[in-house]
Amino acid sequence: MTAIALDCYISNVNIYKGLSVSPGTGIGKVFHVSTSDITVACRTISSDEKEDGWNRFEKAQTDAVASLTESLKTDDKEQREIFETHLLMLSDPDFTSIVKADYDAASYCIEYAVYKQVEEFASKLAEAGNEFLTERANDIRDAWGRVLSLLTGVSASLGDVPPHAVIVAENLKPSDALKLADKDVAGIVTRDGGAGSHLAILSRAYRIPLVSGIENPLSLFAADETLIVDGSAGKVVSHPDEETLAFYKTAEENERKAILRREAFKNKPCMTKDGHKITLFANIGSPEEAEFAFIEGADGIGLFRTEFLTIAGGDFSEEAQFTAYKNVLQIMGDRLVTIRTLDIGGDKVSGDKSLSTGDEANPLLGWRAIRYCLDNTEVFKTQLHALYRASVYGNLRIMIPMITSVAEVKAVKRLISEVKQELTTGRLHYKDDVPVGIMVETPAAAITADLLAEESAFFSIGSNDLTQYTICVDRENEKVAGLFNEFAPAVRGLIGNTAQAAARKQIPLCVCGEFAGKSEGALWLTGKGITTLSVSPSRITELKELFSKLTLVEINEAAEKTETIADAAEAEALFSSLINNAFKA
Ligand code: PEP
Ligand code: MG
Repeated sequence: MTAIALDCYISNVNIYKGLSVSPGTGIGKVFHVSTSDITVACRTISSDEKEDGWNRFEKAQTDAVASLTESLKTDDKEQREIFETHLLMLSDPDFTSIVKADYDAASYCIEYAVYKQVEEFASKLAEAGNEFLTERANDIRDAWGRVLSLLTGVSASLGDVPPHAVIVAENLKPSDALKLADKDVAGIVTRDGGAGSHLAILSRAYRIPLVSGIENPLSLFAADETLIVDGSAGKVVSHPDEETLAFYKTAEENERKAILRREAFKNKPCMTKDGHKITLFANIGSPEEAEFAFIEGADGIGLFRTEFLTIAGGDFSEEAQFTAYKNVLQIMGDRLVTIRTLDIGGDKVSGDKSLSTGDEANPLLGWRAIRYCLDNTEVFKTQLHALYRASVYGNLRIMIPMITSVAEVKAVKRLISEVKQELTTGRLHYKDDVPVGIMVETPAAAITADLLAEESAFFSIGSNDLTQYTICVDRENEKVAGLFNEFAPAVRGLIGNTAQAAARKQIPLCVCGEFAGKSEGALWLTGKGITTLSVSPSRITELKELFSKLTLVEINEAAEKTETIADAAEAEALFSSLINNAFKA
């Protein structure tokens, strides 16, 4: 199905063109999510509207109480206590009387009257500077936020997403996106976020179609209207007529069938048509995803983004980390597990305030990843302790992110020696020969790959950051998303340089950026001799199917042809047509 044919077919409905960030078709009812706390405009109303406003308030309050009462059924004691506190707050007759008095005396809408009283009360508590009262202020905002959500139709939390909804938001932080893992979400529409953003990576991992770059999505699409997200074409269709709906339902059904067809590849190795093995590792952010990767038939873990444990707001103590790493190693058995040390900073903000990198004018060039860890050796050594303790449970490799110099690798090794010494003193078991390698994801690392190879047990190319830093395109910024292409000759050149350095020193090489998971990228990399790729678990069976349809000779020939192509889109298109032909044959 081509985009042009589709436009003609659905000419009577509203189509919004955005960016294709995560492929697939999703159909569902709109669910608004505000990622900042809800703010409410002060809208003046006439006296005729007053009664209706109060009736709506009473209904929203009753509904919020009912849903909280339902939540009390949870087995989690801590959660239940929180819900009980919120219930008391929502049922407080004194507070309701204050809202009523203010609303009756003023000429603004009920939404603003509630918002104003909640903010006044919560601010007073927070200003007291006492931890207990600050917590109470947060509770009040949370509890009454439910009523405001119902009144305004905007939710501040992903916790309430109903099944099979289309989430519409201006932006979603990685911490929000991580909450989508176990939710049945039909699709996502946002204003912010390019194809290299962490939201994009996560939505692809969870197979949720996502279109970004849509201006004012919250006002464009009404809560509860049926929306179609065409993630492959980067389109959002609102007010679909029956024919359009039927057309997309078929597309959705075909995608489901394709996933089922690829099931057959799960337990097979990834081989080209002429019998060459491609190693497919998985990128994960939690032990649960390791299970998914194992089921999808991954040869190992090529990247465990450990910062996702803390971004999601989880416990990042040594014990919690040890348990997470041990679990992943045990799930994968004797398969290789590459665990990356903390890559906090940039847009990856920790849920744990003690790991905050603070405000920076230029966070992507600032206190990120290994720079932060070498300045916060306590945090870093805690992680290394957990990693080495877990090392006895499987086949571990440790990977260091954002390396720009040999000095950084040497500093890491000094800390590792200290950690090993401490473990020996504490009579704790660990493997002495865990390979320690680096991410090549900065131009500095790619250019000095020969020097870094002397100090690294392996390389893994992070094409997301390498592209961002090489062609100066913020991977999170949808305004420049059209410029983000790993096929840019400068990026291809740096990947080639890194591959040669790895081959000269005979150290293993992998690519774990999103380029490796894209069909075109996976083929180009293979054609350049890089046959270990680490991809989102959701891409594994699709890539296995793709490689089964092409010979290494065909792939190499196509890669050879791109050598003289300066234009990124043209080089990519050459592989797109190779893929199309393979599936036609
Ligand atoms: C990369 O930069 O390509 C990479 C894999 O790391 P992350 O996406 O976590 O920054
Ligand atoms: Mg990176």
